[in-house]
Amino acid sequence: MSRFFDLVSKPAREMGSYLPSPPPKQAAADTQPRLIKLDSNENPFGPSPRAMEAMRTALAAAHSYPDDDCSELRRKLAAFHSVPPEQVLVTAGSTALLGLLCQTMLAPGLNAVTSERSFVVYAMAVHAAGAQLIETPMRNDGFDLDAVLNAINEDTRVVFLANPNNPTGTMTEAAAVDKFLAEVPGHVVVVLDEAYYEYALHLCALRKVEYSRSLDYLRQGASVVVLRTFSKAHGLAGLRVGYGLGPAELMAYCARMRNTFSVSSVAQAAALAALDDQNHIGKTVSNNAAQAQILGVGLSELGYRVVPTSANFLYCDVGREASDVVGQLRNEGISVRALGVWGAPNCVRVSIGTPQQNQFLLKAASKIVAASGRR
Ligand SMILES: *Cc1c(COP(=O)(O)O)cnc(C)c1O
Repeated sequence: MSRFFDLVSKPAREMGSYLPSPPPKQAAADTQPRLIKLDSNENPFGPSPRAMEAMRTALAAAHSYPDDDCSELRRKLAAFHSVPPEQVLVTAGSTALLGLLCQTMLAPGLNAVTSERSFVVYAMAVHAAGAQLIETPMRNDGFDLDAVLNAINEDTRVVFLANPNNPTGTMTEAAAVDKFLAEVPGHVVVVLDEAYYEYALHLCALRKVEYSRSLDYLRQGASVVVLRTFSKAHGLAGLRVGYGLGPAELMAYCARMRNTFSVSSVAQAAALAALDDQNHIGKTVSNNAAQAQILGVGLSELGYRVVPTSANFLYCDVGREASDVVGQLRNEGISVRALGVWGAPNCVRVSIGTPQQNQFLLKAASKIVAASGRR
């Protein structure tokens, strides 16, 4: 018997572990091409140059503890979103806020509801709080909000709606969210996870559909917490900074549960500068929209079923064991994500890269498809 099994808490004992993508292997020689990383929905253009500049400046003050409250960033975000600063909570990535919300709202005997095949961190955060996660079946590869409503019971405290959803890339339109929120009972907080907000907003504008009215719900006093992050379109995933916009009282409870000094001074400086660099966001989201089209068509022509995306990745059914395809692509120098853990053994999630990266991926994938046809 292991030494600590009986000593650790029940949630710690029963929790599974998250399997991030394996760290890219260090290239053995300069001649060996670097792995093209299309597995974690990162910005293929990197951080904004203004954020880089701000980070370099902030490094000189790295001996000082950061501002624990991220006051300047909070004020700036509040102004940016036209909400009071008390409704903004900055955390070390928005996943940290998922953890805080669960620690604050949940306990053994209580539950949270989400869809199956959604963001893996929901299960981790809920289980770490000793609570149960109820997952409802999907409809058309996206959230079935009627099923979510039906699953809510008196012990439910939180609903997670990933919009767009990761890993399927599907989006729930504003009208459907309006209707859903009107029916959610008062003892439930709805977390609107908008990690891909900038991408979705741009794609939805092109398609003339209404994406999100999340901040309106907050202004109207609804029990919603809107999650945004600097990890995706802003290209700062390695720095760990995200935030939530929610009712001031709930945000204050979550703030008490935070680790002290969890958002570094360098991350705060980078986020402040990234907010000012709307050029970088513009370049990022327009590349993404154009490439979503090109990559989607290319992968469909190879016989893959590609679900239309509202984010910066494509969910595709490759029609056979996806981990084989992922292994073959890795041998070609490209990393994408197999979705077996999400209960979709024939599916992969491919992040949308630069035009060159995507062409490289399409060439490699067509080579793999041709080879598998010859067998
Ligand atoms: C990437 C992602 C996040 C953001 O995570 P960070 O902790 O801010 O890096 C949150 N929700 C979903 C659905 C995501 O895909």
